[in-house]
Amino acid sequence: MAITYEEALASVLPIVRTQEVHRVTLADAAGEILAMDVTADRNIPPFPRAAMDGYAVVWTGRETESAYRVIGTVNPGSTWHGDAADSDCIGIMTGAMVPPPFDAVIQVELSEADPGGGVRFTGPVKRRANIAEEGEDVRKGSLLIGGGTLLSPHHVATLSSVGQWEVPVYKRPSVAVLATGSELLEPWESAQGPMIRNSNSHFLLAALKGLGFTEVRYLGIVPDDREQIVSKIREGLDCDFLLLSGGVSVGDVDIVPDCLSACGVRKILHKVAVKPGKPIFAGESPGGGIVIGLPGNPVAVMVHFHMFIRPLLLKASGTAEYLPKPIHLPLASSATNKSGGKKFTIARLETHGGVTRVAEIPSHGSGDFVSAGRADGVFEIPLGTVELPAGHLVRFYPIWGNFLSKEG
Ligand code: AMP
Ligand code: MG
Repeated sequence: MAITYEEALASVLPIVRTQEVHRVTLADAAGEILAMDVTADRNIPPFPRAAMDGYAVVWTGRETESAYRVIGTVNPGSTWHGDAADSDCIGIMTGAMVPPPFDAVIQVELSEADPGGGVRFTGPVKRRANIAEEGEDVRKGSLLIGGGTLLSPHHVATLSSVGQWEVPVYKRPSVAVLATGSELLEPWESAQGPMIRNSNSHFLLAALKGLGFTEVRYLGIVPDDREQIVSKIREGLDCDFLLLSGGVSVGDVDIVPDCLSACGVRKILHKVAVKPGKPIFAGESPGGGIVIGLPGNPVAVMVHFHMFIRPLLLKASGTAEYLPKPIHLPLASSATNKSGGKKFTIARLETHGGVTRVAEIPSHGSGDFVSAGRADGVFEIPLGTVELPAGHLVRFYPIWGNFLSKEG
């Protein structure tokens, strides 16, 4: 009996170990996984901050009734000290510290010059208007970015703001990629007759690069020959992960699981109730490395890099959240699942009349990489569900889409 997709992930994730930690500077932080909790070194904002260009006043509620004397100006980065009467104000610019005794900022748009030399205000404001209060975003010591966060450019902004210019991040695991199949040639070779070009390895190498893995070893192609497969597997087992494609199904030449076993790889699972990707294999090498054997069908490789391998790679890289995150969206048309397992169906997102729907892409199956190349991602038809009606909310995984558009 094949186990479920969720059981498959749950049986491999516990043996995934993280690597050591090293330090990177801000320029190299995006795309890395933070290995410490980052807290606020000051209150944020660190002082009562003017949120508008205008005038700081001592609030009375009668600001529009008489002219004000302008007794000074405070710019960002400077301070102002002094006493002020109710009819005094200072010019203040966005980002400047609002000095006592002032407690409201009136934007310049609500002011006009007074013939007597001062200013008049044309609109009322509330006490503490246009002041970002000290600590209103977070208090000193609060958690800003948790350890295990995959850092994006916006996190780099936060790190910069709290003086974390060099941070510990997890080292990524090393990954080996091997294609098996006697029909395979490399893209730069001429393919004729029964031969086809190896696309899986180059997809995997590109996907690994896109995720920020740099210690990647490409082992090339091996034919369906025991000795040659075993010898390449041995090379690959030096890495923390070995990703193979092809040869894990039930055909006569599907000898990869046997070859892995001959190399001491302990089988964790073989066959998952999922389509595409049913024959998927996972094991652990004698050195504690993770070995994933994907079926050769290109769509299975593309789908399971994201749905099965990526969570493992991310966990090994120290991320706290590593499971693919679905978006719940309605189906454009009904969809069927005759597989007897969970089905990941390739789809595009289509927006009409302000509603985004998931539109299945007609496909000839898991060998049809051309159709998959048009997809934004996959949606899930749960195990045991044969048909989902149009409009049904499905779990859509945006694993390929870049979500750019020609129109505004
Ligand atoms: P297999 O899992 O070895 O039975 O292969 C399933 C299908 O995927 C067959 O049609 C293979 O020719 C094809 N295939 C296997 N490996 C690759 C590869 N590296 N690139 C493209 N197609 C492949
Ligand atoms: Mg094969």
